Amino acid sequence: MRFSTLKSIYQCKCPRCHKGDMFLRGKLLNPTKFSVMNKSCSHCGQSFEPEPGYYFGAMFVSYAINTALFITAWVALTILKPDYSLSLLLSLLGVAAIVFLPFIYRISRSIWIAIFISYQGEDLPSSS
Ligand SMILES: [Zn+2]
Repeated sequence: MRFSTLKSIYQCKCPRCHKGDMFLRGKLLNPTKFSVMNKSCSHCGQSFEPEPGYYFGAMFVSYAINTALFITAWVALTILKPDYSLSLLLSLLGVAAIVFLPFIYRISRSIWIAIFISYQGEDLPSSS
């Protein structure tokens, strides 16, 4: 996998050209707008929803990321406060899931679309 592909996944850029934004810019921390996606790439015209229900599989990516987040929080709590209570652990996991929700939502979709649409260069003609 190319470094630029990893960078485009992290930055939620178009998987085909790595230029256009998949999501509205600057809305990551807006609770009502963080999930709004652009219909297609502004640079190459790649559709960001190739078919209805396309991102159903991103749920499994999100599940894996959340599991990693929860294990990390659990290990950190075990190291920092070995005599923690179950309610503290569950509270920490709940807060972590809510705080990281916008980032995990976006990165899951970005990973999912990058699995199926490969990079084809920056100088693509617009298909729309
Ligand atoms: Zn593009």
